[in-house]
Amino acid sequence: MKMQSIFTGIDACRLCLSKNLHPVLDLGSQPPANSLREDLSEAVSEAPLELVRCDDCSAIQLTATVDPAYLFSQYVWVTATSTTARSYSETYCAEVLKRSVVESPFVVEIASNDGTFLKQFKSEGCPVLGVDPAQNIAADASNAGIPTWAEFFDITIAKKVLAEKQQPNIVMARNVIPHVKEIHSIVEGLSALVDDTGMVVIEFHYAKAIAEELHYDSIYHEHLFYFSIKSLCALFAQYELFSFDILESPISGGSLVLFFSHKELDPSMALRDLIEIEELSGFNNLSTWQDFGVKSEKHAQSLKSIVADYAKNGKLVAYGASARSSTLMNFAGISAKEIDCVVDRNPIKHGLYTPRTNIPIVSYEEGLKKLDGKHLLLLAWNFEEEIVRDLRASGFKGDIIVPLPNEVHIR
Ligand SMILES: [Zn+2]
Repeated sequence: MKMQSIFTGIDACRLCLSKNLHPVLDLGSQPPANSLREDLSEAVSEAPLELVRCDDCSAIQLTATVDPAYLFSQYVWVTATSTTARSYSETYCAEVLKRSVVESPFVVEIASNDGTFLKQFKSEGCPVLGVDPAQNIAADASNAGIPTWAEFFDITIAKKVLAEKQQPNIVMARNVIPHVKEIHSIVEGLSALVDDTGMVVIEFHYAKAIAEELHYDSIYHEHLFYFSIKSLCALFAQYELFSFDILESPISGGSLVLFFSHKELDPSMALRDLIEIEELSGFNNLSTWQDFGVKSEKHAQSLKSIVADYAKNGKLVAYGASARSSTLMNFAGISAKEIDCVVDRNPIKHGLYTPRTNIPIVSYEEGLKKLDGKHLLLLAWNFEEEIVRDLRASGFKGDIIVPLPNEVHIR
């Protein structure tokens, strides 16, 4: 049976249309990282997972665009399942409101997921609206008191917000801009939503951390772009949005929050510092990214051999069935041969199997029972401290293999 193709390739840069694209890292043909299955006999679709750098605008991007309807319609990442994310939402809300010049601002969030972040703003007395393409999660958020439209955000939805609601004062988009092929339409929409007193707040996985700390596991089909401060600001400037401040996010292992407004305000000290560090590091250069490609391949081979050595004395238990872990295991060649099960806190995933690596996903409680006498591979290494603390408090005494950042280490 011939499977329907789920992707289209590019022959030019999505940002500047240049055809000078330079290969950086080939992670092979991989299933979309969130395509968990209930039944191992279900077919898995695959698409190339290859990173290129544009010689002209230096944007780092994937060569394949997987159909977004396939990727996002039943998105399984629910924000509130991580306690770090929950406490971060409080800090984030306080930091954003501190910068708002409007009392009780109307806050709109693009890709608002289960409404965890908007809930904070609502509790501060702000009217809120979420926009999220995942039907199931948008419905749950609305039922929980966070009005959420089940839509892909673009300039058309921006116009609908302006027509049916008041003008938003704060528009937030967390970890979504790099996901969208029609990126010009989404930034145009963000720009249209705010007036001169409003601000646009963008959170994104910083490409500098990816290149310098080997976060190759954060490369998956949903992430089409890998931005620097420079490349993101250049894109937003085309739509009259200028950055004035920045925050370093404590989650997702190296994310930044950039604040934009239509007015060209003086950039904060923090923003000026990070731009200078970025320029001095040379990480917008091709050589940095080629080096990253070589190091990522070596790292994956070394991780595979460490895991295979442990597995000789019995299969391991892994922790974290995230999109990142799918890229990591598929690229390194780690599968059900070495791993007994993957623990995940998100109940939506329990009873499903990881994409192509075919490992059953279980609850924390079930995983703890399986861990007796075993060792653990910590795929959710970006929540390392929280998870190690919980596991040790639960009495787990085995080794914990932490693959990243940088070198593999054992705790
Ligand atoms: Zn380009």
